[in-house]
Amino acid sequence: MNLSYWEHKSWFTNLDFVIVGSGIVGLAAALELRRKHPMAKIAVLERGMLPSGASTKNAGFACFGSVSELLDDLSVHSEEEVVALVKKRVYGLETLKKLLGTDAIGYDACGGYELFTLQDEALYTQSLEAIGRLNKLLDPIFDAPVFSRLENSFGFDNIQPQLIFNAFEGKIDTGAMMQAFIKKVYSSDIQIINGATVTAMSDSAGGVSLEINGELSIRASRVLVATNGLAGSLLNEDLKPARAQVLITEPIPNLYFNGTFHLDRGYYYFRNIDGRILFGGGRNLDVDGETTTLMETTEQIQSALDLLLRHTILPGKDVKIEQRWSGIMGVGSKKAPIVKQVSEHVYCGIRLGGMGVAIGADTGTSLAKLID
Ligand SMILES: Cc1cc2nc3c(=O)[nH]c(=O)nc-3n(C[C@H](O)[C@H](O)[C@H](O)COP(=O)(O)OP(=O)(O)OC[C@H]3O[C@@H](n4cnc5c(N)ncnc54)[C@H](O)[C@@H]3O)c2cc1C
Repeated sequence: MNLSYWEHKSWFTNLDFVIVGSGIVGLAAALELRRKHPMAKIAVLERGMLPSGASTKNAGFACFGSVSELLDDLSVHSEEEVVALVKKRVYGLETLKKLLGTDAIGYDACGGYELFTLQDEALYTQSLEAIGRLNKLLDPIFDAPVFSRLENSFGFDNIQPQLIFNAFEGKIDTGAMMQAFIKKVYSSDIQIINGATVTAMSDSAGGVSLEINGELSIRASRVLVATNGLAGSLLNEDLKPARAQVLITEPIPNLYFNGTFHLDRGYYYFRNIDGRILFGGGRNLDVDGETTTLMETTEQIQSALDLLLRHTILPGKDVKIEQRWSGIMGVGSKKAPIVKQVSEHVYCGIRLGGMGVAIGADTGTSLAKLID
């Protein structure tokens, strides 16, 4: 790598803590470490020019579960467990807002909506009937009804006549949130080193040896792995990569709605941003193909998104798509993240699933708290 003496000494020597991954979890962990260890030398290693996993790629829903998702959860968990899960997400969002400020993350308490397809009559009826039960269950958290019925006054087509409104869902500006995080990390005297892929790691007496980009060897006293869906290259945990694809339209004149929308059991999601529609989902069409770390988009999923956009969300409108992209999430046999000590000097906070906006900051903080 042709590093100079100065580069080696200033960036890579006497490192107390190295965090691998500069997503929400890695950056939140870095800030908590700084709070606990004001004098420590802390570095975040990031493979990409920018954070390159899910944190800068997501849809920015500040959500805690739609009615159909919560019913799904209730089919495998007890009511107490589901309430605890929602509480964790709601309080997690509060942590994020407190840490960075609601203005800095572009928080908008816009409310969320769940839409049901015409084919899903049974789920539609079941979800409408469950509103009362769920509101009662969640009352201790919100102290007000969360879900209510609404007529489809949005002009969406090919969906059931009523939607379910969630008064407490919101959205953020994902890019603004990550920039606010990075600014705070820099101002806390923590260095983020981009273009640094950790290619190997071994825990040995007194610390951890890390190999960067297959050639540079460095040492750190402790290492925190926050690489989420890409953790399989460094750790052997119950985790699989799960790619998610999205698109964004050109600005649409007089776009009349503001909110977050979940469609078809949450398989699809869309929102407005800067007069455009950001629309994602369709992983269920090719679950095996989307179990990958390749950050690409596919014809199959993108054309399904195109079709739904034109037939359901903006029927009869011909709107251009400006960008398409994908990001990689981490999923496993359980929904909860893995936050644990892996070996004497290595810790991990991974497997954030599709709720990382809500639980990412708390997960990073808990990861750093594992270290005395
Ligand atoms: C398209 C999409 C839409 C989503 N929408 C939402 C949403 O609306 N609401 C919500 O709550 N969640 C959403 N999510 C999920 C959410 O974005 C994630 O749960 C969250 O960002 C995970 O944060 P993280 O820090 O754990 O991981 P990441 O953001 O993936 O961060 C891991 C970082 O580690 C880096 N890295 C990986 N391997 C290495 C290595 N070997 N060396 C160095 N660096 C490495 C990666 O480049 C990456 O920057 C979405 C995800 C995607 C992909």
